[in-house]
Amino acid sequence: MKRFHLFSLLLIVVAAAINNTTYYFLIFILWFIILNIGVFYLRSRVFIDGIPRKRIPGKIVLTIDDGPHPNLTPDLLQLLGKYHFQATFFVIGRDASEYPHLIKEICDRGHTIAHHSYRHVPWLNFMLRRGWEQEFTKTHRACEPYIKKKWFRPPYALMSPHLAKVLQSGGYELILFDIRALDFGNRRTENLAKRLLKTVDKGGVVLFHGKMPENYTEFSKKQLLEELDIFFNALQNKSDVVSLDHYLELTNGP
Ligand SMILES: [Zn+2]
Repeated sequence: MKRFHLFSLLLIVVAAAINNTTYYFLIFILWFIILNIGVFYLRSRVFIDGIPRKRIPGKIVLTIDDGPHPNLTPDLLQLLGKYHFQATFFVIGRDASEYPHLIKEICDRGHTIAHHSYRHVPWLNFMLRRGWEQEFTKTHRACEPYIKKKWFRPPYALMSPHLAKVLQSGGYELILFDIRALDFGNRRTENLAKRLLKTVDKGGVVLFHGKMPENYTEFSKKQLLEELDIFFNALQNKSDVVSLDHYLELTNGP
């Protein structure tokens, strides 16, 4: 946040020094480009630094965004249990308040609960600081006492200066990812295992989704679970699946 403020201030000083209206437009364009890099590229560090930044070959972390929801969470927990994999669930606060028993079950099975906003709607990124603070308070309340980590992953992987400020003041860590299923919230599940397996050799944090879309069919759910089964099965022979906590310790090392 400080970085972006300093950059904005620098541009204002440059604009004042130049005192030429033609350059004002170019300076604004430059500022706008930097702003967009910060919003759309989570790793940019324009507003805030995220972790982990290193990939460790042979080490994989499983992270599951969205949910919990009865349409997928119990099946996912069963599948993770089959392979004895531990995952971090970045849950939506509103879903957590609707299905508290699923939050409890996730924790009882040794997984970790983390934060992924309360409402998870696209316009969240336009919210000011106060709006974001409410998202955090409500999610925390919905997940208590099971949320133990101050880890956050923003919905749609979008960042804003206001969100960055709330993360910093609340002591939250922005959790990045290296491998994305590109499944559009489980809408595109065909060849999911193949897509994911192509990119696991360098290790890193995998992101996939823990909830089915509203118009899902039994076929699409079956296909997703089969793909995840193939992915997990291949993963156990290729990589060491570790907790996010452990991976962060490893990446903080020399
Ligand atoms: Zn999400």
